[in-house]
Amino acid sequence: MGLVAAARQSLNNDSAKPPNALSPDSCHPPSALRGTLRHNVDMRRHTTWRAGGYAERVYQPADPEDLAKFLRTVPADEPLLALGLGSNLLVRDGGLRGTVLLLHGVLGELHREADGLIHAQAGVPGAKLARFAALHGLGGAEFFAGIPGTVGGMLAMNAGCYGSETWEKVARVQVMDRSGALHERAAQDYEIGYRFVARRESPGLRDEWFVAAWLKFEKGDGAASREKIRALLEKRTASQPLNLPNAGSVFRNPPGDYAARLIERCGLKGRQIGGARVSEKHANFIVNTGNATAADIENLINEVRATVEEKTGIRLHPEVRIVGEAK
Ligand SMILES: Cc1cc2nc3c(=O)[nH]c(=O)nc-3n(C[C@H](O)[C@H](O)[C@H](O)COP(=O)(O)OP(=O)(O)OC[C@H]3O[C@@H](n4cnc5c(N)ncnc54)[C@H](O)[C@@H]3O)c2cc1C
Repeated sequence: MGLVAAARQSLNNDSAKPPNALSPDSCHPPSALRGTLRHNVDMRRHTTWRAGGYAERVYQPADPEDLAKFLRTVPADEPLLALGLGSNLLVRDGGLRGTVLLLHGVLGELHREADGLIHAQAGVPGAKLARFAALHGLGGAEFFAGIPGTVGGMLAMNAGCYGSETWEKVARVQVMDRSGALHERAAQDYEIGYRFVARRESPGLRDEWFVAAWLKFEKGDGAASREKIRALLEKRTASQPLNLPNAGSVFRNPPGDYAARLIERCGLKGRQIGGARVSEKHANFIVNTGNATAADIENLINEVRATVEEKTGIRLHPEVRIVGEAK
């Protein structure tokens, strides 16, 4: 192989021996597309747990129009998964079939509309949204600073903390369906719960992705918001194991209790399988101590769940999304 060809291959493939390899010449999207198509992408680079397998294809669109064009080229039976910052995702070691739509780093438009709403595209990180709202003297967006995800991921999860949740702030959203068509939907079109969102008409949000949201915030005081953000981040650093790869809280809190309290009570802090360990600092976090596989993490999740149920009678439900195939 010539040097140029070798360089191109290493740019387009994240591993010399990828699973599920597609034909090596299928690295470039059709010429009308402006985004980036990559094959056999190491998902450890795209998930905060830094563990797991490869995705067959990853497409990062240039903008919503380009995403629509790309979707029209995709076979109807191709599995598709939207990805933001991968901060709530475990990709099993056998990898992901189909195409990941990588929206972080693109779809980053953020502005204030004439009616006062903030328009944020799906790829905007929570911290940027919080700072933008503070800059515009709007209050109530501070909590987004503590969530290391994108607007798309926060809408999909109804992410929240310190008593606030994403959908409380949503006026309406823009979504794209599999045919590339855009739709605007009101918050009332969704059933919203604790880390739960489903379209009333079509539960499961299948094959429809968030492209943008219009968010409403009350009038506030920029300096006070910035101070709240600072205090919130300080609190997080003190209570969360942010020095090791993790995906935030692994389990939802059961009604009237805290998953972390139950896990700690069962003596599971520090419990380790392979490279995955229940954090000593925050029992609802599982950290990657270096070389954890997705199987290590999933096995530890299952063990914690079984132990808590056996000792307390309470069944914990994962908040993290687990996708892909086991090796
Ligand atoms: C240190 C740390 C702290 C955290 N703290 C919190 C917290 O306080 N509160 C909280 O709620 N969460 C928290 N999380 C979890 C995580 O940040 C949130 O769930 C966040 O909303 C995920 O956003 P993301 O962009 O990373 O989504 P991803 O992990 O990329 O995706 C998560 C899910 O959303 C789907 N998705 C992503 N984008 C879209 C889209 N555009 N359209 C449709 N579906 C989409 C994905 O397919 C996947 O199913 C924390 C995580 C970490 C690592």
